[in-house]
Amino acid sequence: MIRTDTIEPQNENKTVEEEKTDSEVADGATDEETKELKEREYSHPVYKQIAFLNGKINSYSKAELIKNLKMLKLDTDGSRSVLAKRLKTFYKKTMLNVSGIQEQNGSSKIRILFDFYVIIDYEATCELLRNSDFKQEIIEFPAVLLNCQKGEVQDEFRSYCRPVLNPLLTEFCTELTGITQNDVDTAPLFTEVLTSFEEWLQKKKLGTKYSFAIVTDGPWDMGHFLKSQCALSNIEFPTYCKYWINIRKTFSNFYNTGKLPLSTMIQLIGREFQGRAHSGLDDARNIAFIVQRLLKDGARIIFNEKLVEGNARRRDDGNPFFSAPVHNTEFKAIQGKFRPNFPQRKSSKI
Ligand code: AMP
Ligand code: MG
Repeated sequence: MIRTDTIEPQNENKTVEEEKTDSEVADGATDEETKELKEREYSHPVYKQIAFLNGKINSYSKAELIKNLKMLKLDTDGSRSVLAKRLKTFYKKTMLNVSGIQEQNGSSKIRILFDFYVIIDYEATCELLRNSDFKQEIIEFPAVLLNCQKGEVQDEFRSYCRPVLNPLLTEFCTELTGITQNDVDTAPLFTEVLTSFEEWLQKKKLGTKYSFAIVTDGPWDMGHFLKSQCALSNIEFPTYCKYWINIRKTFSNFYNTGKLPLSTMIQLIGREFQGRAHSGLDDARNIAFIVQRLLKDGARIIFNEKLVEGNARRRDDGNPFFSAPVHNTEFKAIQGKFRPNFPQRKSSKI
């Protein structure tokens, strides 16, 4: 995916209408919780009390938030928005428990909706001057496997891929990603790497014994890089990548921060970026830190984007990406029914 401040990370070329639609996406959203509280306003007095308390917490300074969290023996890492959300979640959970209310959608509990998250962050060939005629090819395929119940990273997958259309990396690309000419010259082709990745998933019993979801930062990894690479390699787009979690959206909706690049999200959770930005594996590891924090803070980390056929949206460099929001009702409809398969892949020249 493309991120950093160099490329419209905040609005992804969206119209105001689209932004509105996105805010309805069920990411454990602040907006959604407000809506939920409103809907239940008269169903039980506790919802009014929670809404009142939320308003009070919103007015707290960072120091006051830290003081309260400390008293409750809760983590005090993170920015004001992150701390406020943590405190609100704690009180909501406690007040609902005390009132004997069983949350219908479990939103006051830690939400384990998948057994594993598979965090992917592709790197691709690129040029200094962006040009929509330049066909980007995936050159690094990293994945981090996060056990949701334990909140722990259990394994990693990484392979470089040998580009075919532009086998020579630009100096800019090597500088940006840290990927050398030798790394890609000695690497297998994309289709072979995808097959190894799928073997790794199967070895972990993902898609069979355990459920999993792909997590990325932004819509581009699945909606652009994988989509165009599969077309180029003449293979089917993997079914298990047709829905994914755009963590940037989840983060923005949960902590009410607006969409932010990875480096800023990392800062807001009170950590430092580990490793090298734009190294696919390091990016994926840092995304994993964000997922771990969101899980701990009780966010509902569910599919919020999907692949669309046709109707591409445009990046600022003119390249299309094919993604659309997934709404709560759609997630509920597909939850548990979405069984990925791993097709036998024919070897390809690309
Ligand atoms: P990222 O995940 O942000 O490291 O970006 C994924 C891919 O997007 C990179 O491997 C590049 O191909 C491309 N990219 C990211 N940032 C830039 C940039 N500033 N200029 C050109 N291409 C970029
Ligand atoms: Mg990256």
